[in-house]
Amino acid sequence: MQLSFLGAAREVGRSAVLLETNKSKVVFDYGMKMSDEENREPQFPLPVHGFLDAAVLSHAHLDHSGALPFLFQAGEPQVLTHTASVPIVQLLLQDSMKIAASNKTRCFRKPQFKRMLRNTDGMSYGKTYHATSDVSVTPRDAGHILGAAIVEAEAEGRTIVYSGDFKTEDTCLHKGADLPKNADALIIEATYGDRDHPPRKQLEDEFLEAIKGVTDNGGSVLLPCFAVGRTQEIITMLYAHKLDVPVYMDGMSRAVTEIYLDFPELLKDYEQFYNAMKWVNWIVAPPQRNDVFNEPSVIVSTAGMLSGGPAVRYVQDIRDVDRSAVFFTGFQVPGTPGRQLLEEKRFETERVSADCSGLDVRHFDFSAHAGKDGLHKMLKKASPSVVFVNHGEEEQCELLRQWAEGELGCYAFAPKLGEKYKLEDYL
Ligand SMILES: [Zn+2]
Ligand SMILES: [Zn+2]
Repeated sequence: MQLSFLGAAREVGRSAVLLETNKSKVVFDYGMKMSDEENREPQFPLPVHGFLDAAVLSHAHLDHSGALPFLFQAGEPQVLTHTASVPIVQLLLQDSMKIAASNKTRCFRKPQFKRMLRNTDGMSYGKTYHATSDVSVTPRDAGHILGAAIVEAEAEGRTIVYSGDFKTEDTCLHKGADLPKNADALIIEATYGDRDHPPRKQLEDEFLEAIKGVTDNGGSVLLPCFAVGRTQEIITMLYAHKLDVPVYMDGMSRAVTEIYLDFPELLKDYEQFYNAMKWVNWIVAPPQRNDVFNEPSVIVSTAGMLSGGPAVRYVQDIRDVDRSAVFFTGFQVPGTPGRQLLEEKRFETERVSADCSGLDVRHFDFSAHAGKDGLHKMLKKASPSVVFVNHGEEEQCELLRQWAEGELGCYAFAPKLGEKYKLEDYL
């Protein structure tokens, strides 16, 4: 059996790991790297397109799913993913096509996208499915976003675990990940391989205090949030803390929220979530946007890094509201308008250049990924013979690799792009 690392190798983005057995070829994830025009897609050896048997998708985020339709240029592999991921992937890929058309960037074509949907089957946590005649997979709750799975694969009598993105700690929406035991080989993400997140409770208290500080003073707060997961999490948190100013939700997160509402069994406390979504004010028509700053308020809007969506308008409008703030709740990738606003208090896009020195701009570390402790916990529990660290910057991957080698005494690698490993050499 052989593993090839086609993307997310010492980088975050374009996740793709190819597993080849004697009989079949299965790829775990097939994502895009949105922040890098030159290296957007996984490095798939082109002829393989035609004879790939299956793709197993860990979750809907575009760094894992964004290039999937390209696999249908010259083939019809089966796609397996959690049932809840299917409509989210559909939504995100349709949006990708729209954005690519307006930016004139390379994208898959609609027939490939349609063929992909036709070949996609949904899975449930804890059940086992045949990806191919000799590879079976069992998805386990990854605690990351709705439908996110840690994939436990069985092939040739061995267990290979693909972590995807996971979080071990509970959040408002999800329980911590259902970590697997006894893997032969483990492919693990390392987004936060070098550090821990602040304790969740303390972070929530600080965040709420900061929001109240602004609204009590007559200002409003814009929370640019990712559409999938973060928006729903933050609104549920504001509801649970009984925030007493109007809270608005705008952007693609509305459609994603409709999907979340369809999967009550996947949420930690559906009743609380449902009530929170009833409580928040949905912006459903553009004229409503003119009124949100009439009184102290909180606006939760996409895009999370201000690269598009209604948040772009809000960030310009909120500059005219005295004592106001923009709080980021997710990582801001270097080179994005969000990162620039955070570091320089300037908002710059192709069309806009605005001074934001009057705004209170801060970042709160609400990550949906395991911190260092969670990554170590996963490694200890799975106690693999061989570990492959991916989905992290070079330094994070290397630190986690060293830890695994030193603490677990196993073979540990941080593969470079395109590297192949024969599993038999390490098992
Ligand atoms: Zn993710
Ligand atoms: Zn990811």
